[in-house]
Amino acid sequence: MSRIGVFVCHCGSNIAGTVDISQVLEASKDLPNVVLAADNKYTCSDQGQQAIKDAIVEHGLDRIVIGCCSPRMHELTFRKMLTQTDLNPYMLEIANIREQCSWVHKDKEVGTPKAIGLMKMAVAKVDRDRPLFTMNIPVNKRALIIGGGIAGMQAALDIADAGYPVTIVETTPSLGGKMVMLDKTFPTMDCSACICTPKMADVGSHPNITMKTLSEVEKIGGYVGNFEVTIRERAKYIDYDKCTGCGLCETKCPVKVESEFDQGMGMRKAIYKPFAQAVPAKPTIDAAHCRYLNEGKCKVCSKVCPLGCINYEDQDKVSTEVYGAIIVAMGYKLINWADIYAEYGGGRYSDVITGLQFERLVNASGPTEGHIIRPSDGAEPKSVVIVKCVGSRDPEKGRSYCSRACCMYGAKHAHQYLDKVPGGKCYVFYMDVRTPGKGYDEFYMNTQHDGAQYLRGRVSKIYEQNGKLICKGEDTLSGQQVTVEADMVVLETAMVPADDADRIGAMLGITRDKDLWLSEAHPKLRPVETNSGGVYLAGTCQGPKDIPDTVAQASAAAMKVAILFSKDELESNAMIASSDPAICNGCGACVAICPYQAITLEEVEMRENSMKVIRPISKVNPGLCQGCGACTVACRPGAMDLRGFTDEQIMREVEALCQW
Ligand code: SF4
Ligand code: SF4
Ligand code: SF4
Repeated sequence: MSRIGVFVCHCGSNIAGTVDISQVLEASKDLPNVVLAADNKYTCSDQGQQAIKDAIVEHGLDRIVIGCCSPRMHELTFRKMLTQTDLNPYMLEIANIREQCSWVHKDKEVGTPKAIGLMKMAVAKVDRDRPLFTMNIPVNKRALIIGGGIAGMQAALDIADAGYPVTIVETTPSLGGKMVMLDKTFPTMDCSACICTPKMADVGSHPNITMKTLSEVEKIGGYVGNFEVTIRERAKYIDYDKCTGCGLCETKCPVKVESEFDQGMGMRKAIYKPFAQAVPAKPTIDAAHCRYLNEGKCKVCSKVCPLGCINYEDQDKVSTEVYGAIIVAMGYKLINWADIYAEYGGGRYSDVITGLQFERLVNASGPTEGHIIRPSDGAEPKSVVIVKCVGSRDPEKGRSYCSRACCMYGAKHAHQYLDKVPGGKCYVFYMDVRTPGKGYDEFYMNTQHDGAQYLRGRVSKIYEQNGKLICKGEDTLSGQQVTVEADMVVLETAMVPADDADRIGAMLGITRDKDLWLSEAHPKLRPVETNSGGVYLAGTCQGPKDIPDTVAQASAAAMKVAILFSKDELESNAMIASSDPAICNGCGACVAICPYQAITLEEVEMRENSMKVIRPISKVNPGLCQGCGACTVACRPGAMDLRGFTDEQIMREVEALCQW
């Protein structure tokens, strides 16, 4: 016979306001094997926990039920508390009478009986709790960072400075991400490259950082402390050990293609370094455009290279290594506005450009050396319309969310235009102006003083007439239709998840939110962690944010990794699945459904009707299993069970509810 203690928390008036605690106690004390029912104002407080510890000793309790908030909130707190007693920390059940009861009901008439029902279920379940034990898993103290933008670089530097080896994997030929494409950063207007390139150089030269550019993560297996990661480093066709980055090859290469770095506003060669301060400061051959690799003729770069660095036979290199923690910092992309805004010309008008294209135009080291010109004819635009929220806050065409940085980005572009084109006219169409950062509102106000004219409303149509772009929209403040004639239009487009977010998220078991951003474990309490142990998020892969927030989040993720690496071993999850070999028929349904690839079928020798047979039997890897329970549902013969949530326990709960 078990000896169950029941503790009911008031949570101030959070629970007691809509649940009659005395009635819950009265009902609980008569439940089978309950030897004590007590209440507490705040059970999670030191006094509340001490009261439970004292009661365990005084009443000889061997398991407890706490009626309180969600287990997501304090289950770990109470498990830790039990480690200070003789009880196994898993001899505990939590009845969620706050989030699932008091907070969703208005009065005690409804809240109280429901709380009693929840307590009955928890008591029925705890009666079948068994002590559970964790395993110690060694931690491989090497970190992998996916993405070499400002978030990835900051995280890599922080972890490397803490003394741990880091590998940073970047898909493009250089570190820097989107930040290094920007001209200036708001609100201080310091040169973006000037603050970004020193970080790039630091990453490139840090003894603890291995940099893999033009590379992608192909496969991820394993679990926290021991991720097995396969990385493909695409062929660069250059021997980086010999190359000095002199740039001669690039100068002589006869092929010109649109520069991705300059957002199509300038050209690059087939052998190229994406921008002057790229790290690594060495070129790569773009195989899709190299004349020799496609037509078998040219080899100009090979002829001019003084050091014989060009290797047209270069192949991708695939390697698999083990990492203890992974930070995903793969950034964002801009929404493809041309596909969804046919009314803005759908990409037909070359003088309708994006904010990122404007950044390249206004940048002194950009394709126009900082001269703002119309792409169509190279003339300086005498009037510019800036349209904010293109694809943001527009659920019909784009995304419902606010991209957070565009208000300031738009204000910055207005300021830069008015600064560089004296006498120019600048109109900004906006839905709302959101400037909650430090110094942001002052910056926006100054933009208006500079002469930017803000018009509240969406642009409904853009078309070309007599060499001008006509922007039609509504000024919602005056209620009038407005038509503005401009030489150039700048669209501040929405941030959306990067192309690879789905694939990387799936490999790491990271869920995605309704807008397809990678999801943090908890928006307030675990904002850089994911539901996969040892996997963290940094920067805009988790949602739109500006540079200060990105850098702060990257350092927070790095700190989480450093905390993980401060231990030599980790405790595995005790509430994991396990299969009964006597029942398992080897169908593999569990293998297919497990989102963490935790189950394998293994050939096992066994006796059947006095005959020796070899059969496949499912085996759960305790390091990988996250205890999600999917396999237990998929297993038709009922061989798979989840420790701490056994079929028997669930049935007991259901029975308790039915009798209620
Ligand atoms: Fe490198 Fe040779 Fe090109 Fe110079 S010419 S950048 S050494 S590959
Ligand atoms: Fe995989 Fe089952 Fe563990 Fe879920 S409970 S992670 S499905 S083995
Ligand atoms: Fe065995 Fe069940 Fe997995 Fe099938 S689903 S292999 S029966 S544990």
